Amino acid sequence: MAESAEIHRLPGWVTLLRAPNPGPMTLDGTNTWVLRAPGAERAIVIDPGPLDEVHLRRIAELGPFQFILVTHRHRDHVDGAEWLSELLGGVPVLAADPAHCRHGEPLDSERHLDGNGLEIRVIHTPGHTSDSVCFLVECGNDRAVFTGDTILGRGTTVVARPDGDLGAYLASLELLTAYPEVLMLPGHGPARADVAALAHAYLEHRRERLAQVAAAVAAGADTPAAVVDMVYPDIDPAVRFAAEWSAAAQLDHLRRADRESAAADDRLDPL
Ligand SMILES: [Zn+2]
Repeated sequence: MAESAEIHRLPGWVTLLRAPNPGPMTLDGTNTWVLRAPGAERAIVIDPGPLDEVHLRRIAELGPFQFILVTHRHRDHVDGAEWLSELLGGVPVLAADPAHCRHGEPLDSERHLDGNGLEIRVIHTPGHTSDSVCFLVECGNDRAVFTGDTILGRGTTVVARPDGDLGAYLASLELLTAYPEVLMLPGHGPARADVAALAHAYLEHRRERLAQVAAAVAAGADTPAAVVDMVYPDIDPAVRFAAEWSAAAQLDHLRRADRESAAADDRLDPL
């Protein structure tokens, strides 16, 4: 793994509220980020988290808020958004998926938002889900990328069919390599010092796994379960379902790559 130290002292404009939903898929719980530029009246929220009233009331105490941003549609990030918006008197909820927007327009790729002293750029990063976005936030000379579940603070993320797509995910990781030494604030796990270093490490990990899955297929594995048996023989039963999702996405990706190269061969040699 590339060097990207865990960061325990956050910049003064960033507050972390961790939701009480720990588990094998959520690590210590969902990270809700509250951001406020120095001296600004209004703050913004990234990922309100699950529908947990105590957690949402703790967020509300840090208001007033300009808007609530959502990194992606998974319930542990977005379920509390509508309730929080109502509690705050109709604060807009902005997400890439129109189904999760309230009182505002969906987030387009490369959209810039003015966050009351914070410059916020939306980076479209599909793959973990088709609606996943990251946020590049500038506060004075500070920059941070909020990665949602595209890159986690610890371990690796799941790319599950049908909403996830491994090819799109690899392209999104490539995009995030453009931010060397920029602080990363993920949807789960600790803050990390360098989002680009982690994006490179994730790319390397995915390529290694794809090579292992290709070897398993060559050895006769033809279902996600058979791939998991060969590639992850010691898998924890609690997360086996996630490994099978990943294996299904990897098989899809490899089969699509095979079909594309066969189609390219056909074009080269019409006979
Ligand atoms: Zn997720």
